[in-house]
Amino acid sequence: MDYEEFSRQAASMKVFVSYLVPRGILQVALHYLLWMIFIISLYLLQKFFFDGGLEYGYVQPLRTVFVIATPCLLIGLNLASKLEAQKDEISRLARTDVLTGLLNRGAMDAVLASDLSDMSGSLLLIDIDHFKSVNDDFGHAAGDECLRAVAKFLRLVLPKDVELARWGGEEFVALVRRQNVSEIAPFANKLVRGFTLPIEGHNRQTKITFSIGVAAISEVGPVDALLKLADTRLYLAKSWGRAQWVGPEAEPLEP
Ligand code: GH3
Ligand code: MG
Ligand code: MG
Repeated sequence: MDYEEFSRQAASMKVFVSYLVPRGILQVALHYLLWMIFIISLYLLQKFFFDGGLEYGYVQPLRTVFVIATPCLLIGLNLASKLEAQKDEISRLARTDVLTGLLNRGAMDAVLASDLSDMSGSLLLIDIDHFKSVNDDFGHAAGDECLRAVAKFLRLVLPKDVELARWGGEEFVALVRRQNVSEIAPFANKLVRGFTLPIEGHNRQTKITFSIGVAAISEVGPVDALLKLADTRLYLAKSWGRAQWVGPEAEPLEP
């Protein structure tokens, strides 16, 4: 089963389960009441239509139904809501990059595979500059810590409605609902300037900057072409000296 099929099935399962499983005590009580009304109605119907009337003696088995059904119902509901919570957690984990907590590549692929034609926005391909030297100078654990700090920084600087993923290694993809240079420039300028990362245990700090390729969704049709365009511009940003972003109208920064 491919990722899309998995997400589709998980989503339809979720809708199905959410109709059956109550959330919170009030809904549990409401479900229970409805079940009881249902059972009693069945019981009364059966008595009226097949036994020809009701007598006091019939109340006793009804009480038994209550006593047996109540704990069974509550245990069942409890298990079902736990199952639903676990399903949510599994589907969240399947979409998450374990190191940074951002979306992973599979989840971002699914976002990009959806119809973006109605969306006016841009794709940002963000690459950490000289990241290898963080690993080389301070060790792999410091490199991992740096990636986590980068994820926090990106979340902080990028607009709140961004779809943000770790695309691989030290590369990130952001899909933002803005596409004019005047809309992108404020946060893109902040991003490329980066931040200072304290290196734990080394009593040192290092400057982290970014190179970014920006492609507007309206510039090209297919998502492959969009990624390719952003990648070409990222490469330009690197070749123009790093710590800068290149969009549709960008010029190299003065050194
Ligand atoms: P550039 O400015 O040209 O992008 O240089 P760079 O050093 O950032 O890029 P390069 O592709 O030379 O090196 C990327 C490094 O990222 C190499 C790889 O070991 C490291 N890396 C990839 N994934 C991880 C990870 O999950 N953790 C750590 N610590 N390092 C990683
Ligand atoms: Mg890099
Ligand atoms: Mg890279």
